[in-house]
Amino acid sequence: MSVIKIKVLIINVLLIGMGVIGATNVNGQVKQNAAKSSEAPNLIIITTDGFRWQELFKGLDQTIAQQNKFNQGDSDFIQTKYGGASDQERRLKLMPFFWSKIVNEGMIFGNRTLDNKVNVANPHSISYPGYNEIFTGYPDSSINSNSFPPNLHSNILGFLQKQSAYKNKVAVFGAWDAFNRILNERVSGIPVINAFEPITQLMNDPVSLSISQGLKDSYKPFKEAECLDVYTHQQAFHYLQNKKPKALFISYGETDEWAHHAHYRDYLEAAHQVDAWIAQIWNWVQSTPGYKDNTYLLITTDHGRGFTDAWTDHGGDVNGASSVWFALMGPNLQKVGKLGEQNVKAQFYQKQLAATITKLLNKPFVAEHPIGSSIY
Ligand SMILES: [Zn+2]
Repeated sequence: MSVIKIKVLIINVLLIGMGVIGATNVNGQVKQNAAKSSEAPNLIIITTDGFRWQELFKGLDQTIAQQNKFNQGDSDFIQTKYGGASDQERRLKLMPFFWSKIVNEGMIFGNRTLDNKVNVANPHSISYPGYNEIFTGYPDSSINSNSFPPNLHSNILGFLQKQSAYKNKVAVFGAWDAFNRILNERVSGIPVINAFEPITQLMNDPVSLSISQGLKDSYKPFKEAECLDVYTHQQAFHYLQNKKPKALFISYGETDEWAHHAHYRDYLEAAHQVDAWIAQIWNWVQSTPGYKDNTYLLITTDHGRGFTDAWTDHGGDVNGASSVWFALMGPNLQKVGKLGEQNVKAQFYQKQLAATITKLLNKPFVAEHPIGSSIY
């Protein structure tokens, strides 16, 4: 060993003693590890519009599936794919990631058969008021329509965007064209890619060009207001993998659209596909440095729907439409409570999600308006 190397070694030993550098700092290993553990956690919020708690917790609903006016003339198909003798069997077939992975490693709230209830606090049980409630924590009843103008209330994504750890690392991909108003894209400064807006507004690689072309040419059963979920997912997942946002919101819309169409088979298929996409996203998270064991996932919906024949509908006058659910995945969830399907009698509200999720990130949301309290 040369004199110089010995000197470097002595200096390193001194610095280690002072806690300035890590023991194996010569190759940068410790420094990297230290940076990783102190890095602010990531947040991914996923919503599937108007998906009922009944199907999430009990799977296919026979009172709907057996009716020709709802099963799209193909009762055998949905019975074979999603039928089963018990709630547990049917829900596992419909949402396998929820009921094999999240139920063991995360938390699932809102099973009303266990008296664990989640409701929207706004009186409208429609989409704009619901997403406003999720992201602002404030169920402002004057927000009463889906054509409401840009939202003046600050939201958690705009709040995170102002924090140094999240600055310019927040993005939104939504199938429905209202999110630029709901999250006030112009004021919050967050890129919001809605409906038929192409990802090429943000990225110009060959994959982005290809997805954007597919989106433009795709079938448009919901006209210009909403694209098929597959394009929203492909754009969001491509962005996640390549731009590595620290806070990402993905909103799928087909569960609500097919329900309004009274297409129960398509509604179930849309939910089943969303479950598969959540699995894909989570598997990527847990195999990617910087995301692994450092990412919170909130999965929820904006409103519920009616019972039996009224399952197609929702709104302030539809019985049951204010009943919703949510699920959490991520590190340190024991702070919130016991893992698994929540089976304790409780009443939670959608307005509590903003405070709950930002508290988990150690960045408690503050705003100019009242905010529902964290659930823990
Ligand atoms: Zn709807």
